[in-house]
Amino acid sequence: MLRRTKIVATLGPASSDQKVLEKMIRAGVDVVRMNFSHGTAQDHVARVEKVRAAAAACGRIVGILADLQGPKIRVGKFENDKIILKKGDTFILDAGWTGLGNQERVSLDYKELPNDVSKGSVLLLNDGMLEFGVTEVSGAQIICKVVRGGVLSNNKGINRKGGGLTAPALTDKDKEDIKTAALIKADYLAISFPRSADDMRLARKLMQAAGGKSLLMAKIERAEAIAVLDEIIDASDAIMVARGDLSVEVGDAAVPGLQKRMIRMARAKNKLVITATQMMESMITNPIPTRAEVSDVANAVLDGTDAVMLSAETAVGDYPVETIQSMVRICINAESEIEDISTGYDPSQVQFTRIDQSIAMSALYAASHFTVKAIVALTQSGSTALWMSRMNARVPIFALTPTESTLSKVTLFSGVHPIAFNLTSELPSIELHAAEDELVRLGLIKEGDMIVMTIGEAVKAGYTNTMKIVRVGDHRKG
Ligand code: PEP
Repeated sequence: MLRRTKIVATLGPASSDQKVLEKMIRAGVDVVRMNFSHGTAQDHVARVEKVRAAAAACGRIVGILADLQGPKIRVGKFENDKIILKKGDTFILDAGWTGLGNQERVSLDYKELPNDVSKGSVLLLNDGMLEFGVTEVSGAQIICKVVRGGVLSNNKGINRKGGGLTAPALTDKDKEDIKTAALIKADYLAISFPRSADDMRLARKLMQAAGGKSLLMAKIERAEAIAVLDEIIDASDAIMVARGDLSVEVGDAAVPGLQKRMIRMARAKNKLVITATQMMESMITNPIPTRAEVSDVANAVLDGTDAVMLSAETAVGDYPVETIQSMVRICINAESEIEDISTGYDPSQVQFTRIDQSIAMSALYAASHFTVKAIVALTQSGSTALWMSRMNARVPIFALTPTESTLSKVTLFSGVHPIAFNLTSELPSIELHAAEDELVRLGLIKEGDMIVMTIGEAVKAGYTNTMKIVRVGDHRKG
């Protein structure tokens, strides 16, 4: 059975070996995430080469997502790597200090933090494990009272509850990393902590200047981003529900509702969406997931996410392959429960403005009102497959294309399966026959199946203008 929901796996030490990568790809990874918070440009180039070699060895197409570090605000290092803070302790976050931290104070990588907080601000450290109340700001020093204590170790992150930190979304390091993302031909570029549509527009400009063609993904993880979600999604090609930092900024209880809202909004705007963070967290050290994790993944599928993402589970976990196998099982089961074709989006209310979009939606409509086994889109840019994938087509959508970058981009589209296909003729009718024969050869459809096909009379991106319903094999009967 073909799985509709895609799986994104973050790479790290646990998934560096090519043999492990091959096992992960065979188990079901569709897209790998390169986390630019770790490693050098050379590391990323070498890792991408390994991924592409592993995908070729498996005969699979795997997408590449480059995820920028962004302005994650962190404490510096400690003399003894970590300290333990108790409730009621006084502790200083010192932007003017460059030495190693101790029980009284620690340095900060973001020197503007004292200007962004004031008496009464609440700071959450280490993904919210520790909570500090700001009692005073004195020059470069933020004097805090520990509200919830715990272990504070080197380079742990800091968030301000409610958001409001002024750090720009793209740091100097990010600007350099965009060049690396262009160099490795990343299919997707994720921008961390965008606050506005302008942040996404700037990233797009920098990507274009670097000669790259990556689609842009906004990681929604700042409280301020929620207020301008519409504009941020409009300025992006995809979003990530980045539940880790978002939980810390808006409070954990608000995130499940926001997840549903973001998935609905992204689909309605013909954008892609990944649900991320702690999906199978216990599998970092255990061979099976918890009941709650199974439900979490299944609910993201039922919400209509394009993809579910693994972070530490595949980057540093003990069971990267088993985690992917479990996710596959959960996704397939949940998908069998999706009944409604629409995920909160009613195409009958939408006025189409393009011929290719109208054809894509007609194919989807035909597929949902007539018994067909598959939708087959011969596509250059992947746009028709994207429109078709914004609703639950109930049948697989095969995107046949000669364009390498389109093949690896559609790996993230829910329900869409990339098939490399060389166009051999200018005649659409001959192309359609060849496409049908290729899918039969691959065992994806068989003689007698009904399928819906789309194609353009001109073989150019944006020129799809034809839809056809055919019975497989009839063309050979003359
Ligand atoms: C998150 O915060 O949920 C997230 C995906 O971001 P990162 O893992 O890059 O911190």
